[in-house]
Amino acid sequence: MAVPQRRISKTRKRLRRTHFKLSVTGLVTCPQCGAMIKAHHVCPKCGYYAGKAVLVNGKLVKEEKPAAPAKKAAAKKPAAKKAAKKEEK
Ligand SMILES: [Zn+2]
Repeated sequence: MAVPQRRISKTRKRLRRTHFKLSVTGLVTCPQCGAMIKAHHVCPKCGYYAGKAVLVNGKLVKEEKPAAPAKKAAAKKPAAKKAAKKEEK
């Protein structure tokens, strides 16, 4: 049977074991309130997720649909470019 040639000193053993430690994983700081929260979860302190209020007093906030104004803004930009091109000609 293989046997260690020398005994490991207390110091070497303890130096090796300095790396044996628990680490807290999966915790990030909430960008809204700065609390330590689970990654990819709604913040239980302020109720925000990805910069939006999701929970207010523990109740779900229903999202308003801002799709219509966004389409109008997108439609205006190309029209302005076309107008600018016509002016150049
Ligand atoms: Zn928060």
